[in-house]
Amino acid sequence: MAFEGLADRLQNTIQKIKGKGKVTEQDVKEMTREVRLALLEADVNFKVVKDFIKKVKERAVGEEVMESLTPGQQVIKIVKEELSGLMGGDESKIAVADRPPTVIMMVGLQGAGKTTTTGKLANLLRKKYNRKPMLVAADIYRPAAIDQLETLGKQLNMPVYSAGTDTSPVDIANQAMVKAKEEHLDYVLIDTAGRLHIDGDLMEELIQIKNNVNPDEIFLVVDAMTGQDAVNVAESFNEQLDVSGVILTKLDGDTRGGAALSIKAVTDKPIKFAGMGEKLDQLEVFHPERMASRILGMGDVLSLIEKAQENVDEKRAKELEDKMRSASFTFDDFLEQMGQVRKMGPLDELLDMIPGANKMKGLKNVEIDEKQISHVEAVIQSMTAKERQDPSIINASRRKRIAKGSGRSVSDVNRLIKQFDEMKKMMKQMTNMQQGKKGKKGKK
Ligand code: GDP
Repeated sequence: MAFEGLADRLQNTIQKIKGKGKVTEQDVKEMTREVRLALLEADVNFKVVKDFIKKVKERAVGEEVMESLTPGQQVIKIVKEELSGLMGGDESKIAVADRPPTVIMMVGLQGAGKTTTTGKLANLLRKKYNRKPMLVAADIYRPAAIDQLETLGKQLNMPVYSAGTDTSPVDIANQAMVKAKEEHLDYVLIDTAGRLHIDGDLMEELIQIKNNVNPDEIFLVVDAMTGQDAVNVAESFNEQLDVSGVILTKLDGDTRGGAALSIKAVTDKPIKFAGMGEKLDQLEVFHPERMASRILGMGDVLSLIEKAQENVDEKRAKELEDKMRSASFTFDDFLEQMGQVRKMGPLDELLDMIPGANKMKGLKNVEIDEKQISHVEAVIQSMTAKERQDPSIINASRRKRIAKGSGRSVSDVNRLIKQFDEMKKMMKQMTNMQQGKKGKKGKK
């Protein structure tokens, strides 16, 4: 998980000050010293850390805390606000040109995830904003890059403009613009060439494309895993191209957080999106405030709700809930429900969005074993339709057959059936209890 070390340390630190009825300068000093170390250890730029600590200190010994009824909480609020401010404050919007198409130039070093992110961004623009994007293959030095973009286009069922490796990137971009207008597409995403290191030729070419197509956005794609290198890269690209925003990739990885926390402060350009995995739907709008909340262990309920809305069919979810309450919930329903939850993403990521979940006993160090879930699915899939509808018919010989079919042991099968029974019983009890309460109040 990204930010894990930082989150752990910051959470421990704020825990100490949380309940304090009085916060002294000494308390603030101790807290900021720990926060400072945590940030430095997370590879945050040292100047950024210095400014951050100065701001927090000033505010934390100021009136807003001293006069508050809950000074401890107030200090935490300040840390959260400053952390969020560090990453850009409010989320930033993506440009829309007065006259379509809106042009987005994608730039970055090789391997940062530029081509993949171009596909992901096009996908997001279509899914979230209902736009019609076109992808443009302007990396002519690496033929594989053109193939990669064309493959992405096929996967997404989206037009790709390419003109091989003999046409100049500037001409490709110009031709793509004409084509996009003809076809009434409203976004053009230009995948430009990357290099292993920043060099003059690359920059020159990017500046030429920029001057020619006059992009509405220039997004710099940087790899969060590279820490302060990502920040240096961002600084150079920004000096030459005046980029409009940064897309941070691989935030699903084991990054310490240095890049995410330093880029805005160093370049004064916001992080607009974050790559959360290799798949085409794993690009998220970057919300500094929600990210700060996640880092401080306060959860991120808004993102969780959005994920649910995007991935779960609400009507069907309600039907499943009703079924659970009426105890007519079957293994088929269970399988479906599990599928809906899994669509939302890896479970440990979801857990991070629940306020306090990482502090809960038992959940703190839980390694969610996705394999275990696949085993459960395999067992259910080895049942016949009849068995899934009515588990009471699953006798000893059927259990043996199911175990064999799913490659699990008979005791695995027994355990699952028992757990399922218990879950149903519990749901029934909860429903009865709720109905009892409502009955007493005389409401529906
Ligand atoms: P480019 O050279 O900058 O165009 O980079 P690519 O788009 O080819 O990506 C390089 C590698 O990074 C590929 O294996 C991608 O699947 C992977 N990648 C890109 N974005 C992410 C991300 O957000 N998370 C993870 N885990 N991998 C990513």
